[in-house]
Parts: sequence; structure tokens; C-alpha cells
Amino acid sequence: MLDQFLLQMINKESTNPNDILNQYLESQGLRKTPERSIILDEIYNINDHFDIDELFNLISKKNKISKATIYNTIELFNKLELVKKHVFNDTKVLYEKSLNKKQHNHLICEKCNKIQEFCDPRLQQIIDSAETLLKFKISKHSLNFYGRCLDDNCKK
Ligand SMILES: [Zn+2]
Ligand SMILES: [Zn+2]
Repeated sequence: MLDQFLLQMINKESTNPNDILNQYLESQGLRKTPERSIILDEIYNINDHFDIDELFNLISKKNKISKATIYNTIELFNKLELVKKHVFNDTKVLYEKSLNKKQHNHLICEKCNKIQEFCDPRLQQIIDSAETLLKFKISKHSLNFYGRCLDDNCKK
């Protein structure tokens, strides 16, 4: 059911995250709660990758929403592709807003934890050729590079 909904959304190319959330809630006959909108708005004000604690702290400045609610809600946003969930270094779970954001990959500094994003159109060629050669439909991928940034400010 969710997949079907997502397909509809993608076709409509809605660019407003709240529209997508509201359309989803209506399609599922779910009540619109202010909590979900508050969390979504807060997420779309963040321009970087963030974890649940950071999001919780930001929201707590203005609103009382439990960490469990934030966690459950962000899982829903992840399913709706409003948020992208990353697991870096097999352990560190970070999120970022994903609507209207270009596909990108990450460089993660293992010393200072700085995350840089990069896009390279050649990746699409690799995906296309893998699909053709292996008769496979790729729905998502993740490509993370770990190493050390060459910033003067990089710790140690
Ligand atoms: Zn990113
Ligand atoms: Zn660094």
C-alpha cells in the first residue's frame, strides 16, 4: 500500500513535504496531528545531517514531543522518502531531508566526523549498466567513502 502511494506522489512531483505528509495521512485515513508537522518543519530547517538527539534538542526548545514520538515519526518520513536515513560506519545513524535534494554520496572524515557530499553523474552510468547487464532494477544505493579530511581544523 505504501509503495503504491509513493508511486503516486513521485508522479505528482509534489515539492512540499507537508503536502506529501497530508496526502499520505488522508489516503490512510489517519488523523493530522500537530506533532508530525512540527517535526517535519524542524527537519526541513536543518541543512545538514543530524541524529535523533540533535533533532530532539531543537524541537524541545519550542515544543514538548517525546523522543519516542520523534523516532516513530522519522521512520514514517523515511518510508515516505521525505527523509533519508544513513547508517555511517555501521553504527552512526544520521538523517537528512531528502525532498528536492539531488542524489548524492558522502565522504566521512573518521577523525573529525565531518561529512561532505558529492555528486558524480558517472554513477548513474554504472547503475544503468548494472541494471542492463544483470537484469536488475535498482531502487536505491548508498556509497560512502571513509578517510581523513585535509582541513586545518581536523582534530589531531
Ligand atoms: Zn547527505
Ligand atoms: Zn576531518
